[in-house]
Amino acid sequence: IMGMLLMNKKLSRLIDDMLEEARAEVNLNPDRSMELCNEALAVSMETGRNDKIGDCYIGMAFVARTKSDKSNILDYSFKALGEYEKVNSMEGISKAYNLIGVAYFYSSMYEEAIRYFLDGLNNLKEFSNPNLLGSILNNIGEVYRESGMYDKALEFYERAYEISEEHSLKYYQATILGNIGEVYLIQENHSKALEYLMKSYGILDEGKDLVSMGEVANKIGKAQQIKGNVELAEDYFKRALRILDRVDNQFYRIDVLSNLALTKEDPEETIAILKDAISTALGVGAKKKLSDLYQKVSIQYENIMDYRTALSYHKKFFLINQEIMNSNIRNRLEILNVEIRHLEEKDRLDQVKRTLEKELEENRKELEDVRQSNTILEREAFEDELTEIPNRRSVNLQLKRLLSNYRGKNSTIAVFIVDIDNFKEYNDYWGHSEGDRCLKEIAKELQAISRRSGDMVGRYGGEEFVYISKSSKFEEAVNLGNLMRNRIKKLNLKYDHSETRSPVSISVGGVFGKTVDLSEYSQIMEIADRELYRAKSDGRNRSYVASV
Ligand code: GH3
Ligand code: MG
Ligand code: MG
Repeated sequence: IMGMLLMNKKLSRLIDDMLEEARAEVNLNPDRSMELCNEALAVSMETGRNDKIGDCYIGMAFVARTKSDKSNILDYSFKALGEYEKVNSMEGISKAYNLIGVAYFYSSMYEEAIRYFLDGLNNLKEFSNPNLLGSILNNIGEVYRESGMYDKALEFYERAYEISEEHSLKYYQATILGNIGEVYLIQENHSKALEYLMKSYGILDEGKDLVSMGEVANKIGKAQQIKGNVELAEDYFKRALRILDRVDNQFYRIDVLSNLALTKEDPEETIAILKDAISTALGVGAKKKLSDLYQKVSIQYENIMDYRTALSYHKKFFLINQEIMNSNIRNRLEILNVEIRHLEEKDRLDQVKRTLEKELEENRKELEDVRQSNTILEREAFEDELTEIPNRRSVNLQLKRLLSNYRGKNSTIAVFIVDIDNFKEYNDYWGHSEGDRCLKEIAKELQAISRRSGDMVGRYGGEEFVYISKSSKFEEAVNLGNLMRNRIKKLNLKYDHSETRSPVSISVGGVFGKTVDLSEYSQIMEIADRELYRAKSDGRNRSYVASV
């Protein structure tokens, strides 16, 4: 018996050692970490010690956490919970609760997450494990932060920090400092943010925790960027990239690139970096980040007035959001199913069933919303069907966006309404479908002009078009109006068979001015329309531009 006890003791030391190594490997080499946990599990099974088996499952849950694999975090945590419960290990139960909470947190199920964290916290009263206590308090802070309750978040982070400091748990200190810094960053308190982030960075640097270092360097860059220190910001972003490349972490690389992109003045450069981020995000399937990137690229193209490309990215943005919403629903159901599989107690099962029903009800509503916005998108598509250039809604939207971007800035703008002259006659003579062809050709020509100079043109309705330009001088606007007129004439579209009658022409009414003077959409359209009316009544085939 003595021999067996000794043997058992040796084996549990071996298990502990293997699990410690697994923990050390989990960030940089999760697969190796999983191997070690499996080996430890085999030894634990031999000894028949439930608490050790539980520890092995906890180790596996940590690997799943590194990979953000929510349902496996939950699966392994519940397995661990089962083992700990057999031997009534309060500490083990707390650990399992903590990780179950994390799985729910990652699935954005904050109510469930908080419930498990608090259960874990309650259990902890029975024994002392500062490491675990700090971790649970920090996790509760995370839930509050994600729910937008920043004061509450700071309160829990501070408590977690005190404990980690008291017991000199360096690694936790760094993590918590980083989290506190992040809250200050969200609150746009950059000096406080920097103070905490720099402290965190210092600790991480000592421990050579590269992934966290990359993450914190990125946040420092962001704080510097908000502060207006563009060069320093760029410095930290580049540093973050170098660190993350060393550990081949694609996930955080995306965040860094998307921050770095916005330090560039040249929109082309910004777009190039954002596209690099997009291909990284596509590679690792980071949909939420993709959504954010598509939106950013769309805005960049809008700024350089390439509305067509902006719209195509806007569509990508919309579609990926739909995908995300659907996969959120699937995820949450999957997570709840994992919990049900592990449940035996009757009342807990009822509780989960209620949650599941609530989830399903919410999901039905979400799906309904998606369906509705889908039909809106279809109905109000951005493009005109006949001419395949932007439609009225699109033109209005872009003009309004442009005006709000320019609000208070010293920019100029020119807007033209283009109307085909005597188009009714053309239609009456050649027929409606020939009329359609004529419309298409004119639209194509106007678009060719706009593309060359980064302008935008759309069909406003019937035989009318709206052309938006960033002309910087009044003369440029005048020339542009005449250029349109000449180019349409050169298309040489005939009103009838007569040899002498001049070809189809357009009349143009425009307005040019500074955006501080021309800030109202309705004002712009009224002036342009008035000029068009003048051009028509003075005999057509004319371009009049008012300077405001
Ligand atoms: P004005 O020089 O004063 O602008 O004369 P107009 O004949 O161009 O103007 P009016 O408003 O009298 O007629 C516009 C014509 O445009 C009437 C309509 O048949 C034609 N039209 C509007 N939309 C379309 C379309 O989508 N296809 C075709 N083929 N014709 C269209
Ligand atoms: Mg008209
Ligand atoms: Mg007309």
